[in-house]
Amino acid sequence: MPVKKSMTIRLGDTCVLCKQQKEDGIQLCEVHVCEECEQKLVDVNVDDEVYPFYVVELRRLSLERFL
Ligand SMILES: [Zn+2]
Repeated sequence: MPVKKSMTIRLGDTCVLCKQQKEDGIQLCEVHVCEECEQKLVDVNVDDEVYPFYVVELRRLSLERFL
């Protein structure tokens, strides 16, 4: 059996922010965020209107996982 390269992310996970299955991405507190949304998170300003959405969504999902 060929050894698959190990990665810190699970491929094909559903991004919690855009709800799309993406191969690329990062794991934030066991929550999968695709590369695209990660970039948005990095670039987003506190003044940005999408900022509350990201924060609330991430917090909600993190809490769900930990409770
Ligand atoms: Zn995404």
